[in-house]
Amino acid sequence: MNHQKTHLWFQEYHTPHTGLFFRVEKTLYCGKSDYQEIVVLESTEFGRVLLLDGLVMLTERDEFIYHEMLVHPALSLLTHPDRVLIIGGGDGGALREVLKHPVRQVDLVDIDGEVIRVSQEFFPWAKSAFSDPRTSVFVEDGVSFVAGQKPKTYQAILVDSTDPVGPAKALFEKSFFEAIRSILAPDGILTLQSESWFYHLNILKRTYTALKGLFTHVRPYWAPTPTYPGGSWCFLFASDAYNPEKSPCRSNFQSRYFNPRIQRAAFVLPEFLKKALGV
Ligand code: SAM
Repeated sequence: MNHQKTHLWFQEYHTPHTGLFFRVEKTLYCGKSDYQEIVVLESTEFGRVLLLDGLVMLTERDEFIYHEMLVHPALSLLTHPDRVLIIGGGDGGALREVLKHPVRQVDLVDIDGEVIRVSQEFFPWAKSAFSDPRTSVFVEDGVSFVAGQKPKTYQAILVDSTDPVGPAKALFEKSFFEAIRSILAPDGILTLQSESWFYHLNILKRTYTALKGLFTHVRPYWAPTPTYPGGSWCFLFASDAYNPEKSPCRSNFQSRYFNPRIQRAAFVLPEFLKKALGV
């Protein structure tokens, strides 16, 4: 009898009929917080993988693209990014990228302290980012945290949230963007993860429209994300002072994906998206 080695496989449905699967070597962690199920897998080809409620949040192999592209299109335009706020981002990836810039303080607000704890245990970058002296961590709902901040406090605000369901739903509402705008410096920049332009165009359109009514420069941009639905991801950039297609950007920091030409290219949109957003 041949003893075929059986393998574990992870699968994530992106629609009822399509999705992503990859082979798993072992489960490193499985737990449930007050907000979500948290799992860390050792995959055969993508390194360690963080899942929240069964959805891929990051893999060691491709997370750099998403985290660099959430952060650097904003921070690279700022010469003095004194104080930065990250909402969500409990895995520490965006925080690691922000700390590459000459910031004085980064406040990270995640509703789930367990994500922060588990990420520090299994992802080395998280441990060093969260222990950086410039980092302050708040385990709190981003909505209530923002409501409690003084006006014009932050030069950059980055929203790295889960999909707009459950506690993250409020992070995609116009009222939240109004509250963000009030604590952003007049020459500040907001970027947020804005879902898949292929599968979630309705969410992107709604978020884009909400921001258009609040900021002078609102621009969608995108990046390839092999393990997110549709294989590429959309972000939104909003600012009263900076036009990301024209403002000069710094490149005096380490990156594996981002560079000044990527900064320009990321804001070039395909026809279907321009039409859908009316740009
Ligand atoms: N890059 C991932 C994506 O695009 O889906 C997001 C990763 S990050 C781990 C998402 C974080 O958002 C989670 O840790 C979750 O706890 C946090 N989150 C969800 N709703 C939140 C809220 N209302 N306030 C603060 N953090 C929230």
